[in-house]
Amino acid sequence: METMPDPKPLRTDAVLPVEGRVVLLGSRCRECGQVLFPRYATCLACDGASVEALEFAGTATLVSWTRVHMPTMRMQAPFDAGYVRLTEGPLIYAPVRAAPAAPFRVDLPMRVVPLMLGEGDDAVCGYQFAASSEGPHA
Ligand SMILES: [Zn+2]
Repeated sequence: METMPDPKPLRTDAVLPVEGRVVLLGSRCRECGQVLFPRYATCLACDGASVEALEFAGTATLVSWTRVHMPTMRMQAPFDAGYVRLTEGPLIYAPVRAAPAAPFRVDLPMRVVPLMLGEGDDAVCGYQFAASSEGPHA
């Protein structure tokens, strides 16, 4: 059986598509411990240059959300977007998805899932956060 190649990432410094999943990429400062999303060459907190690569676990909790009614370059409206707090610390903005058994609420457990954007040769793999009770990976 042939396997599908992994899709192109939306941003190579932030997203690693692998075998139907998506891994978020970041950095950790060896000097002050600051964790950053996405990858950075220097620390935004202390300006230190000793920064190591990090792969996030992909778990987060929901901080805030809203319904977006304006389309973006790659997304049709309406869609839900919000801020999630990664388990490792960074607060990031992303499309978010609730589930029938897990409506949006503050601190809702979420996990990162792939979000394909565009079609054909222009398609890239981005990310969104889904309620972690949703689907077979709960
Ligand atoms: Zn630092």
